[in-house]
Amino acid sequence: MNSDRPFFRPSLSYWEIDHYLKDIDLLVVGSGIVGLTTAIFFKKKHPNKKVVLVEKGFLPSGASTKNAGFACFGSLSEILADLRFSTQDEVFALIAKRFEGLQELRTLTGDKTIDYQPCGGFEIFREEDESQFSACFDILEPMNNRIRDELGLEHTYSIQNEMISEFGFNGVSKMIWNRHEGSIDTGKMMAELLRIASASGIIILNSLEVSEWNDNQTYVQVSFANGLEIRAQKVHFATNGFAKSLLPDLDVEPARAQVLITSPIEGLKVRGTFHLDEGFFYFRNVGNRVLLGGGRNLALEAETTLELETTQLIQNRLDQLLKENILPNSEYEIEHRWAGIMGVGPKKKAILKQLTDNVSCAVRLGGMGVAIGTSLGKESTEMIA
Ligand SMILES: Cc1cc2nc3c(=O)[nH]c(=O)nc-3n(C[C@H](O)[C@H](O)[C@H](O)COP(=O)(O)OP(=O)(O)OC[C@H]3O[C@@H](n4cnc5c(N)ncnc54)[C@H](O)[C@@H]3O)c2cc1C
Repeated sequence: MNSDRPFFRPSLSYWEIDHYLKDIDLLVVGSGIVGLTTAIFFKKKHPNKKVVLVEKGFLPSGASTKNAGFACFGSLSEILADLRFSTQDEVFALIAKRFEGLQELRTLTGDKTIDYQPCGGFEIFREEDESQFSACFDILEPMNNRIRDELGLEHTYSIQNEMISEFGFNGVSKMIWNRHEGSIDTGKMMAELLRIASASGIIILNSLEVSEWNDNQTYVQVSFANGLEIRAQKVHFATNGFAKSLLPDLDVEPARAQVLITSPIEGLKVRGTFHLDEGFFYFRNVGNRVLLGGGRNLALEAETTLELETTQLIQNRLDQLLKENILPNSEYEIEHRWAGIMGVGPKKKAILKQLTDNVSCAVRLGGMGVAIGTSLGKESTEMIA
């Protein structure tokens, strides 16, 4: 590349170079929840700095526009599963981070804008899950006490078996309710974050995939798959499940998550957000439809992929769960199926890291990004400055 003309491409005008591509103070890579909130909080703190956000997809193309919209901080069986790999203090710190992160998101966007519904989160147990239920029952009061003492929330988890029949389930024998959880409209959340970013003066460029970067300590040279090259003072990667190709030393792997949504169902009884099986399956109503996702645990290796495709194995299991347990007596069609890519690793903990003098990253949000994404964006800003 000619070092005097880093933006050289015959098709670019003086105006395009001058307005979009020159004198960038912060380049954020990836326009998911983390990239957007990093850019938004940074611009709030440094209104005169030029912030550019680049995204490889024509829309954000990882997890943020594809998720289930659960505003949740942990079902008891998920917490028990986490305790197998982490200490009590680590697990509790994550619960607190998820709860506080949700408050941060709601404060930034406003509840009405993202259609936040304080419906609570239900964990259901089928007849074959009895022993899992007993283990959850054993930690229910200790968890309630710790959450009360540290987060000030009263009676977080309670047994609600008498409500099971209201939802029309089949083969479900026990249910635990977390009264402090809720749901959001994922599309509205992302539209609002994009709106706030644009209104703050952040430049958002889509269909631009970063292919290489180099921090020469004076600036960061960034190359794109389409041949464009630009410079930025600071670069922050918010590429989550895609991180490894540009940041090979990070311990983060892609994890595909598959979802389906039904047609509208007359007289639908399922209302709220629901989990089962350590959070590996989840469903909720979206108006009069049911959205159901999960099943990654059925094929963990095959689901360690960046391919945005659905598979027969997992979709068949979702269909079966819907038919046998969730909607046993309803008429419906499966209207749409899709997949998104999360970032996971050996620890259920995001990576927020300074990589070189001018390059940092915030990745590996697992299935918790609605909850922790906004606060991770805010923390990123503190690190970049
Ligand atoms: C199906 C599904 C259901 C989920 N349900 C929930 C839920 O109910 N509640 C919850 O809290 N979390 C949920 N999650 C997880 C949550 O969506 C993620 O944790 C969160 O969206 C991660 O946000 P992010 O900004 O870190 O990553 P992403 O949203 O993945 O954003 C990363 C972006 O970087 C872009 N990118 C990657 N590489 C490049 C490159 N080289 N150049 C330019 N751009 C690049 C990608 O296209 C992508 O848009 C779910 C995830 C999925 C997939």
